[in-house]
Amino acid sequence: MIRLAIHGGAGDLVPGTSDLRPHRAVLQQISERGYASLAAGASAVDVVEQMVIELEDCPLFNAGIGAVLNRDGLPEMDAAIMDGDQRRCGAVAGISRSRSPIRLARGVMDHSPHVLFIGAGAEALGRELGLEQVDSAFFITEERFHQLKVAQEKGVIVLDHDTSHEDPPPSDAPAKDPGFGTVGAVALDANGHLAAATSTGGLTNKHPGRVGDTPLPGVGTFADDRSAALSCTGTGEAFIRASFGQHVHCRMQWSNYDLLKACEDALDTADGYGGRGGVIALDRNGSLAMPFNSRVMFRAWSNEDGSVQVAVGKDGAGD
Ligand code: ASP
Repeated sequence: MIRLAIHGGAGDLVPGTSDLRPHRAVLQQISERGYASLAAGASAVDVVEQMVIELEDCPLFNAGIGAVLNRDGLPEMDAAIMDGDQRRCGAVAGISRSRSPIRLARGVMDHSPHVLFIGAGAEALGRELGLEQVDSAFFITEERFHQLKVAQEKGVIVLDHDTSHEDPPPSDAPAKDPGFGTVGAVALDANGHLAAATSTGGLTNKHPGRVGDTPLPGVGTFADDRSAALSCTGTGEAFIRASFGQHVHCRMQWSNYDLLKACEDALDTADGYGGRGGVIALDRNGSLAMPFNSRVMFRAWSNEDGSVQVAVGKDGAGD
C-alpha cells in the first residue's frame, strides 16, 4: 500500500469568503505528481521533500516564496524532514537566503552528523552543499507586506491564516486571497517506510529569532516506521508544549491508541495550552488521520485506489 497527504495550513478563515480554487488546484496537482512518483517506486522521503519544494515555490502558501514576515519585515523560515526508517532527520530554522529551506533540511539529514541548524550556520552549510542561494527579497510578496502592516497596526502576532484581527472587508470588496499557510507532507512508500516534511515562514509579525514547532523533530514534524509520520500546522508554541509528534508516538506505542485517537489526544493536549491548528498523519498500515480544531485546514490526500481528494473545511464544508 502506498499513500500520501499534504497540507497548506489551518486557520479560522470563514469558508465561502475567499476564492480558494487556486489553492485547491495546487494541492491537487502536487498530490497527483507525488502519488505518481510513489507508484513509480520513489521513496517516501524523496516524495515528501519534492512535494514540499513545490509548495515552497507557490506564493499562495506560507513557505518559501510567500513566507510571512517577522517584525522587521523579513522572512525567517523553518523546515524539517524526517525519515521513519531509523528516525533520520534534518532541520533548519531562521532561514532567509537558501532558496528551499526543505532542501537545506534534507542536506542536513544526508550530509551532516547533526540534526538542527540555525541562521548563518545553516545558510553556510547550504552554500557548502552547493544549494541555491537568493536575496531575502526573493521570498517577499506584496500580500505579506500588507499582512504585516495590518498585524502591526493591530499590535498582534498572528498565524498566517488568522484573519480574525482584521476589519471585515466592505461587502462589495473582491474576495481576498487568504494567503494560507504553512505546508507539510507525509507519505508511506512501497517498502513500508514513512516520512514527513514541513516548511513554514512561521507567524506574521513574530519576534526576530522566534522558532516554532515546524523544525523540531518529534514536535511539528515526526516519522517513525513503528508508529506514524505527521506534519503539524497551527500555533507552534502550544504544539511544542504538547510535544506533539512524540505524544502521538507514545500513545500508539504504549497506550495502544489507533492513529486518529492518538492525534486527537495530542491535539486536545495542544488545545489545553491554547493551541489551534491541526495535523496530517499516516501510519504504517496506510491509515490516514487529519484532525484539526480550527475552522479550516487545507489538505489533500490519496485514497486507497490512488485517486486524490482535496478538502478545506470540516467534513468538506465550504470547499
Ligand atoms: N506552526 C507554525 C509555527 O508556529 C505556523 C503555522 O503552522 O502556520 O511556526
